[in-house]
Amino acid sequence: MLETRIAEELACIRQAGLERSIMDLHFVNPVQARDRAGKTYLVLSSNNYLGLTHAREVIDAARAAVFKFGTGSSGSRLTTGGTFAAGELEKRLADFKHSESALVFNTGYMTNLGVLYGLLKPGDVVFSDELNHASIIDGCRISRCRVVVYKHNDMEDLRRLLETEKVIGQRFIVTDGVFSMDGDIADLPALAVLKKRFDACLIVDDAHGVGVIGSDGSGTAAHYGMPGIIDLQVGTLSKALAAEGGYVTGKKILIDYLINKSRPFIFSTALAPATLAAANAALRLLQTQPQKYLGSLWANTKLMRRLLKDGGLQVVEGITPIIPVLIGEAELTMRFADKLRGKGILGSGIRQPTVPQGESRLRVTVTAAHSKEQLRQAAQIITALWQELRQGEEKEG
Ligand SMILES: *Cc1c(COP(=O)(O)O)cnc(C)c1O
Repeated sequence: MLETRIAEELACIRQAGLERSIMDLHFVNPVQARDRAGKTYLVLSSNNYLGLTHAREVIDAARAAVFKFGTGSSGSRLTTGGTFAAGELEKRLADFKHSESALVFNTGYMTNLGVLYGLLKPGDVVFSDELNHASIIDGCRISRCRVVVYKHNDMEDLRRLLETEKVIGQRFIVTDGVFSMDGDIADLPALAVLKKRFDACLIVDDAHGVGVIGSDGSGTAAHYGMPGIIDLQVGTLSKALAAEGGYVTGKKILIDYLINKSRPFIFSTALAPATLAAANAALRLLQTQPQKYLGSLWANTKLMRRLLKDGGLQVVEGITPIIPVLIGEAELTMRFADKLRGKGILGSGIRQPTVPQGESRLRVTVTAAHSKEQLRQAAQIITALWQELRQGEEKEG
Protein backbone atom coordinates (compact mmCIF):
# COMPACT_ATOMS: atom_id res chain seq x y z
CA MET A 1 0.00 0.00 0.00
CA LEU A 2 2.48 2.56 1.19
CA GLU A 3 5.05 1.61 -1.40
CA THR A 4 2.51 1.88 -4.23
CA ARG A 5 1.57 5.37 -3.10
CA ILE A 6 5.17 6.44 -2.79
CA ALA A 7 6.14 4.94 -6.15
CA GLU A 8 3.32 6.91 -7.79
CA GLU A 9 4.43 10.16 -6.18
CA LEU A 10 8.02 9.62 -7.17
CA ALA A 11 6.95 8.87 -10.73
CA CYS A 12 5.09 12.20 -10.82
CA ILE A 13 8.14 14.06 -9.57
CA ARG A 14 10.29 12.31 -12.14
CA GLN A 15 7.85 13.00 -14.95
CA ALA A 16 7.82 16.70 -14.13
CA GLY A 17 11.61 16.66 -14.39
CA LEU A 18 11.85 17.69 -10.72
CA GLU A 19 13.53 14.64 -9.22
CA ARG A 20 16.42 15.40 -6.90
CA SER A 21 19.33 13.17 -6.02
CA ILE A 22 22.53 13.42 -4.06
CA MET A 23 25.90 13.80 -5.76
CA ASP A 24 28.74 12.47 -3.62
CA LEU A 25 31.57 14.98 -3.47
CA HIS A 26 34.79 15.20 -1.65
CA PHE A 27 36.24 18.69 -1.12
CA VAL A 28 39.98 18.71 -1.72
CA ASN A 29 40.17 22.41 -0.80
CA PRO A 30 37.51 25.06 -0.10
CA VAL A 31 36.70 25.60 -3.79
CA GLN A 32 37.46 22.30 -5.53
CA ALA A 33 35.75 18.96 -5.11
CA ARG A 34 36.11 15.51 -6.62
CA ASP A 35 33.36 13.03 -7.45
CA ARG A 36 33.57 9.24 -7.15
CA ALA A 37 34.80 8.90 -10.73
CA GLY A 38 37.74 11.16 -9.87
CA LYS A 39 36.54 14.20 -11.85
CA THR A 40 37.46 17.51 -10.23
CA TYR A 41 35.09 20.49 -10.21
CA LEU A 42 35.38 24.16 -9.44
CA VAL A 43 32.63 24.76 -6.89
CA LEU A 44 30.45 27.85 -7.36
CA SER A 45 27.63 26.55 -5.20
CA SER A 46 28.91 26.40 -1.64
CA ASN A 47 28.23 28.62 1.38
CA ASN A 48 31.82 28.38 2.57
CA TYR A 49 32.10 32.14 2.04
CA LEU A 50 35.45 32.67 3.71
CA GLY A 51 36.96 29.33 2.70
CA LEU A 52 37.74 28.56 6.34
CA THR A 53 36.88 24.84 6.23
CA HIS A 54 40.48 24.11 5.30
CA ALA A 55 42.26 26.84 7.28
CA ARG A 56 45.18 25.48 9.29
CA GLU A 57 44.03 27.17 12.52
CA VAL A 58 40.51 25.77 12.21
CA ILE A 59 41.66 22.22 11.50
CA ASP A 60 44.18 22.38 14.35
CA ALA A 61 41.51 23.57 16.78
CA ALA A 62 39.16 20.74 15.81
CA ARG A 63 41.91 18.15 16.05
CA ALA A 64 43.07 19.37 19.46
CA ALA A 65 39.50 19.26 20.77
CA VAL A 66 39.05 15.64 19.63
CA PHE A 67 42.24 14.55 21.34
CA LYS A 68 41.51 16.44 24.55
CA PHE A 69 37.75 15.93 24.94
CA GLY A 70 36.76 12.97 22.73
CA THR A 71 34.47 12.79 19.75
CA GLY A 72 31.00 13.32 21.21
CA SER A 73 29.39 15.61 23.78
CA SER A 74 27.60 12.67 25.47
CA GLY A 75 24.32 14.42 26.18
CA SER A 76 22.11 17.48 26.32
CA ARG A 77 23.83 20.43 28.01
CA LEU A 78 21.14 20.67 30.67
CA THR A 79 21.36 17.04 31.75
CA THR A 80 24.98 16.06 31.08
CA GLY A 81 26.70 19.42 31.41
CA GLY A 82 27.89 21.73 28.68
CA THR A 83 31.38 21.57 27.21
CA PHE A 84 33.64 24.54 27.86
CA ALA A 85 33.87 24.92 24.09
CA ALA A 86 30.14 25.73 23.84
CA GLY A 87 30.34 28.38 26.55
CA GLU A 88 33.44 29.94 25.00
CA LEU A 89 31.89 30.05 21.55
CA GLU A 90 28.71 31.64 22.91
CA LYS A 91 30.73 34.34 24.63
CA ARG A 92 32.58 35.10 21.40
CA LEU A 93 29.37 35.08 19.36
CA ALA A 94 27.58 37.46 21.73
CA ASP A 95 30.50 39.84 21.63
CA PHE A 96 30.83 39.62 17.84
CA LYS A 97 27.11 40.25 17.33
CA HIS A 98 27.11 43.16 19.83
CA SER A 99 24.56 41.29 21.97
CA GLU A 100 24.31 40.48 25.68
CA SER A 101 24.07 36.74 25.32
CA ALA A 102 24.07 33.82 22.87
CA LEU A 103 22.84 30.24 22.68
CA VAL A 104 24.14 27.53 20.35
CA PHE A 105 21.78 25.00 18.74
CA ASN A 106 22.69 21.94 16.67
CA THR A 107 21.87 23.48 13.29
CA GLY A 108 20.66 26.78 11.91
CA TYR A 109 17.46 24.98 11.00
CA MET A 110 16.92 23.91 14.62
CA THR A 111 17.72 27.42 15.81
CA ASN A 112 14.79 28.89 13.91
CA LEU A 113 12.50 26.11 15.12
CA GLY A 114 13.79 26.58 18.65
CA VAL A 115 13.48 30.36 18.74
CA LEU A 116 10.05 30.64 17.12
CA TYR A 117 8.52 27.58 18.75
CA GLY A 118 10.10 28.54 22.06
CA LEU A 119 8.97 32.16 22.09
CA LEU A 120 5.60 32.33 20.37
CA LYS A 121 2.37 31.96 22.34
CA PRO A 122 -1.24 31.56 21.14
CA GLY A 123 -2.56 35.03 20.33
CA ASP A 124 0.80 36.21 19.02
CA VAL A 125 1.09 37.00 15.32
CA VAL A 126 4.20 36.52 13.17
CA PHE A 127 4.76 38.76 10.15
CA SER A 128 7.04 36.82 7.82
CA ASP A 129 8.69 37.78 4.51
CA GLU A 130 7.46 35.57 1.66
CA LEU A 131 11.01 34.59 0.71
CA ASN A 132 12.11 33.57 4.21
CA HIS A 133 14.11 30.37 4.63
CA ALA A 134 12.20 27.08 5.05
CA SER A 135 13.36 26.79 8.67
CA ILE A 136 11.58 30.06 9.52
CA ILE A 137 8.45 28.86 7.75
CA ASP A 138 8.58 25.56 9.66
CA GLY A 139 9.27 27.30 12.97
CA CYS A 140 6.19 29.47 12.44
CA ARG A 141 4.19 26.39 11.52
CA ILE A 142 4.97 24.33 14.60
CA SER A 143 4.38 27.33 16.86
CA ARG A 144 0.74 27.17 15.69
CA CYS A 145 0.49 30.96 15.86
CA ARG A 146 -1.13 33.01 13.15
CA VAL A 147 1.36 33.75 10.38
CA VAL A 148 0.91 36.76 8.12
CA VAL A 149 3.13 36.66 5.04
CA TYR A 150 4.17 39.99 3.51
CA LYS A 151 5.49 40.60 -0.01
CA HIS A 152 9.21 40.19 -0.35
CA ASN A 153 11.05 43.08 1.30
CA ASP A 154 7.95 45.24 0.69
CA MET A 155 7.81 47.56 3.71
CA GLU A 156 4.62 49.23 2.52
CA ASP A 157 2.86 45.85 2.45
CA LEU A 158 4.24 45.02 5.90
CA ARG A 159 3.07 48.37 7.31
CA ARG A 160 -0.42 47.84 5.89
CA LEU A 161 -0.63 44.33 7.40
CA LEU A 162 0.69 45.48 10.79
CA GLU A 163 -2.02 48.13 10.79
CA THR A 164 -4.93 45.95 9.71
CA GLU A 165 -4.26 42.60 11.41
CA LYS A 166 -5.90 42.27 14.81
CA VAL A 167 -3.40 41.06 17.41
CA ILE A 168 -4.21 40.05 21.00
CA GLY A 169 -0.69 39.04 21.99
CA GLN A 170 2.74 40.08 20.78
CA ARG A 171 3.70 41.02 17.22
CA PHE A 172 6.82 39.41 15.75
CA ILE A 173 8.54 40.40 12.52
CA VAL A 174 10.86 37.76 11.12
CA THR A 175 13.09 38.01 8.09
CA ASP A 176 16.25 36.70 6.48
CA GLY A 177 19.05 39.29 6.66
CA VAL A 178 20.54 38.25 3.31
CA PHE A 179 18.00 36.29 1.25
CA SER A 180 19.34 32.94 0.17
CA MET A 181 17.95 32.81 -3.37
CA ASP A 182 18.03 36.46 -4.48
CA GLY A 183 21.09 37.55 -2.49
CA ASP A 184 19.40 40.84 -1.55
CA ILE A 185 19.40 42.41 1.93
CA ALA A 186 16.45 43.07 4.27
CA ASP A 187 15.46 46.74 4.61
CA LEU A 188 16.56 47.13 8.23
CA PRO A 189 16.07 50.92 8.48
CA ALA A 190 12.40 50.55 7.50
CA LEU A 191 11.97 47.47 9.70
CA ALA A 192 13.36 49.45 12.65
CA VAL A 193 10.72 52.14 12.19
CA LEU A 194 7.87 49.63 11.91
CA LYS A 195 9.14 47.56 14.82
CA LYS A 196 9.07 50.64 17.05
CA ARG A 197 5.77 51.92 15.83
CA PHE A 198 3.97 48.60 16.37
CA ASP A 199 5.99 47.45 19.38
CA ALA A 200 7.03 44.30 17.52
CA CYS A 201 9.86 41.90 18.33
CA LEU A 202 12.28 41.82 15.38
CA ILE A 203 14.05 38.56 14.49
CA VAL A 204 16.66 38.53 11.71
CA ASP A 205 18.25 35.34 10.35
CA ASP A 206 21.79 36.23 9.27
CA ALA A 207 22.79 32.77 7.99
CA HIS A 208 24.09 34.36 4.76
CA GLY A 209 24.94 37.68 6.39
CA VAL A 210 27.60 36.75 8.93
CA GLY A 211 31.08 36.65 7.44
CA VAL A 212 29.62 38.32 4.37
CA ILE A 213 28.31 41.86 5.03
CA GLY A 214 29.05 44.65 7.51
CA SER A 215 32.47 46.25 7.96
CA ASP A 216 33.40 43.63 10.60
CA GLY A 217 31.48 40.84 8.86
CA SER A 218 28.93 40.63 11.64
CA GLY A 219 25.93 40.83 9.35
CA THR A 220 22.90 42.95 8.57
CA ALA A 221 22.95 45.24 11.62
CA ALA A 222 26.59 46.14 10.94
CA HIS A 223 25.88 46.62 7.23
CA TYR A 224 23.41 49.40 8.08
CA GLY A 225 25.37 50.65 11.09
CA MET A 226 22.37 49.93 13.31
CA PRO A 227 23.48 47.92 16.34
CA GLY A 228 20.87 47.18 18.99
CA ILE A 229 17.87 47.36 16.64
CA ILE A 230 17.35 43.63 16.18
CA ASP A 231 15.92 41.77 19.20
CA LEU A 232 17.10 38.31 18.19
CA GLN A 233 19.79 37.55 15.63
CA VAL A 234 19.84 34.00 14.33
CA GLY A 235 22.85 32.56 12.53
CA THR A 236 24.54 29.38 11.47
CA LEU A 237 27.97 27.93 12.11
CA SER A 238 27.73 25.97 8.87
CA LYS A 239 28.32 28.67 6.27
CA ALA A 240 31.05 31.31 6.70
CA LEU A 241 32.01 29.79 10.05
CA ALA A 242 33.09 26.54 8.43
CA ALA A 243 31.62 24.05 10.92
CA GLU A 244 28.04 23.13 11.70
CA GLY A 245 25.45 24.26 14.17
CA GLY A 246 23.37 27.38 14.72
CA TYR A 247 22.96 30.14 17.27
CA VAL A 248 20.81 33.00 18.43
CA THR A 249 21.98 36.18 20.16
CA GLY A 250 19.99 38.78 22.07
CA LYS A 251 19.20 40.12 25.54
CA LYS A 252 20.20 37.78 28.34
CA ILE A 253 16.64 37.47 29.55
CA LEU A 254 15.50 36.16 26.16
CA ILE A 255 18.36 33.67 25.95
CA ASP A 256 17.73 32.47 29.54
CA TYR A 257 14.11 31.94 28.62
CA LEU A 258 15.05 29.87 25.56
CA ILE A 259 17.39 27.70 27.67
CA ASN A 260 14.36 26.88 29.80
CA LYS A 261 11.70 26.61 27.14
CA SER A 262 13.14 25.74 23.76
CA ARG A 263 12.58 22.05 23.03
CA PRO A 264 15.03 21.75 20.11
CA PHE A 265 17.70 23.00 22.52
CA ILE A 266 16.64 20.97 25.54
CA PHE A 267 16.00 17.59 23.93
CA SER A 268 18.96 17.16 21.64
CA THR A 269 22.52 16.10 22.36
CA ALA A 270 24.92 19.04 22.18
CA LEU A 271 27.38 19.50 19.32
CA ALA A 272 30.71 17.70 19.48
CA PRO A 273 33.63 19.63 21.05
CA ALA A 274 35.55 19.52 17.74
CA THR A 275 32.69 21.18 15.86
CA LEU A 276 32.43 23.95 18.44
CA ALA A 277 36.18 24.45 18.53
CA ALA A 278 36.29 24.69 14.72
CA ALA A 279 33.56 27.34 14.65
CA ASN A 280 35.29 29.23 17.45
CA ALA A 281 38.60 29.21 15.57
CA ALA A 282 36.92 30.31 12.32
CA LEU A 283 35.18 33.18 14.06
CA ARG A 284 38.45 34.17 15.69
CA LEU A 285 40.13 34.36 12.28
CA LEU A 286 37.35 36.58 10.99
CA GLN A 287 37.58 38.83 14.05
CA THR A 288 41.37 39.17 14.01
CA GLN A 289 41.85 39.46 10.22
CA PRO A 290 38.62 40.92 8.84
CA GLN A 291 40.37 42.76 6.02
CA LYS A 292 42.05 39.63 4.73
CA TYR A 293 38.92 37.49 4.54
CA LEU A 294 36.21 40.04 3.85
CA GLY A 295 38.43 41.97 1.44
CA SER A 296 38.96 38.88 -0.73
CA LEU A 297 35.30 37.90 -0.58
CA TRP A 298 34.14 41.39 -1.59
CA ALA A 299 36.72 41.71 -4.38
CA ASN A 300 35.77 38.29 -5.77
CA THR A 301 32.07 39.14 -5.56
CA LYS A 302 32.59 42.36 -7.50
CA LEU A 303 34.76 40.66 -10.10
CA MET A 304 32.37 37.76 -10.73
CA ARG A 305 29.29 39.99 -10.91
CA ARG A 306 31.04 42.19 -13.48
CA LEU A 307 32.38 39.30 -15.57
CA LEU A 308 28.98 37.62 -15.82
CA LYS A 309 27.23 40.87 -16.70
CA ASP A 310 29.86 41.76 -19.31
CA GLY A 311 29.32 38.28 -20.75
CA GLY A 312 25.70 39.19 -21.50
CA LEU A 313 24.05 37.31 -18.66
CA GLN A 314 21.08 38.70 -16.77
CA VAL A 315 22.47 39.06 -13.27
CA VAL A 316 20.17 40.15 -10.44
CA GLU A 317 21.83 43.29 -9.06
CA GLY A 318 23.24 43.22 -5.57
CA ILE A 319 26.38 43.29 -3.46
CA THR A 320 26.43 39.82 -1.91
CA PRO A 321 28.33 36.73 -3.14
CA ILE A 322 24.98 35.08 -3.91
CA ILE A 323 24.74 35.86 -7.63
CA PRO A 324 21.47 34.83 -9.29
CA VAL A 325 21.68 34.56 -13.09
CA LEU A 326 18.16 34.63 -14.53
CA ILE A 327 17.52 31.99 -17.17
CA GLY A 328 13.72 31.69 -17.30
CA GLU A 329 12.42 28.21 -18.06
CA ALA A 330 13.15 25.41 -15.60
CA GLU A 331 14.13 22.91 -18.28
CA LEU A 332 16.66 25.25 -19.89
CA THR A 333 18.05 26.15 -16.46
CA MET A 334 18.63 22.53 -15.50
CA ARG A 335 20.17 21.77 -18.90
CA PHE A 336 22.50 24.76 -18.39
CA ALA A 337 23.56 23.58 -14.94
CA ASP A 338 24.07 20.02 -16.26
CA LYS A 339 26.27 21.12 -19.14
CA LEU A 340 28.28 23.33 -16.80
CA ARG A 341 28.88 20.33 -14.61
CA GLY A 342 30.11 18.46 -17.66
CA LYS A 343 32.63 21.27 -18.12
CA GLY A 344 33.80 20.96 -14.53
CA ILE A 345 31.85 23.79 -12.87
CA LEU A 346 29.26 23.37 -10.16
CA GLY A 347 26.55 26.03 -9.91
CA SER A 348 23.02 25.44 -8.61
CA GLY A 349 20.06 25.29 -10.93
CA ILE A 350 17.13 26.75 -8.98
CA ARG A 351 13.56 26.26 -10.20
CA GLN A 352 10.01 26.16 -8.92
CA PRO A 353 8.82 25.75 -6.25
CA THR A 354 11.91 27.39 -4.72
CA VAL A 355 11.45 30.38 -7.04
CA PRO A 356 8.35 31.41 -9.07
CA GLN A 357 7.72 29.72 -12.43
CA GLY A 358 9.56 31.46 -15.28
CA GLU A 359 12.17 32.84 -12.89
CA SER A 360 14.43 29.80 -12.82
CA ARG A 361 18.03 30.70 -12.41
CA LEU A 362 21.56 29.57 -12.11
CA ARG A 363 22.71 30.48 -8.60
CA VAL A 364 26.41 31.19 -8.48
CA THR A 365 28.22 31.81 -5.19
CA VAL A 366 31.80 32.94 -4.80
CA THR A 367 34.06 32.73 -1.78
CA ALA A 368 37.16 34.46 -0.47
CA ALA A 369 39.14 31.34 -1.42
CA HIS A 370 38.57 31.45 -5.20
CA SER A 371 41.49 32.82 -7.17
CA LYS A 372 40.87 35.59 -9.70
CA GLU A 373 42.05 33.23 -12.42
CA GLN A 374 39.56 30.55 -11.39
CA LEU A 375 36.74 33.08 -11.54
CA ARG A 376 37.86 34.47 -14.92
CA GLN A 377 38.01 30.99 -16.43
CA ALA A 378 34.67 29.99 -14.93
CA ALA A 379 32.96 33.17 -16.14
CA GLN A 380 34.30 32.56 -19.63
CA ILE A 381 32.96 29.01 -19.67
CA ILE A 382 29.60 30.10 -18.27
CA THR A 383 29.09 32.91 -20.77
CA ALA A 384 30.25 30.83 -23.76
CA LEU A 385 27.92 28.00 -22.78
CA TRP A 386 25.03 30.43 -22.37
CA GLN A 387 25.49 31.81 -25.88
CA GLU A 388 25.65 28.29 -27.28
CA LEU A 389 22.44 27.27 -25.50
CA ARG A 390 20.63 30.45 -26.47
CA GLN A 391 21.54 30.06 -30.11
CA GLY A 392 20.27 26.47 -29.95
CA GLU A 393 16.98 27.72 -28.47
CA GLU A 394 16.58 30.35 -31.18
CA LYS A 395 17.16 27.82 -33.97
CA GLU A 396 14.53 25.52 -32.47
CA GLY A 397 12.08 28.38 -31.91
C1 LIG B 1 21.24 27.71 5.63
C2 LIG B 1 20.20 28.48 6.32
C3 LIG B 1 19.65 28.03 7.51
C4 LIG B 1 19.94 26.65 8.06
O1 LIG B 1 21.19 26.60 8.64
P1 LIG B 1 21.86 25.15 8.85
O2 LIG B 1 22.91 25.41 9.83
O3 LIG B 1 22.35 24.73 7.52
O4 LIG B 1 20.79 24.24 9.35
C5 LIG B 1 18.75 28.85 8.17
N1 LIG B 1 18.40 30.04 7.68
C6 LIG B 1 18.89 30.50 6.50
C7 LIG B 1 18.47 31.84 6.01
C8 LIG B 1 19.80 29.73 5.78
O5 LIG B 1 20.27 30.17 4.64
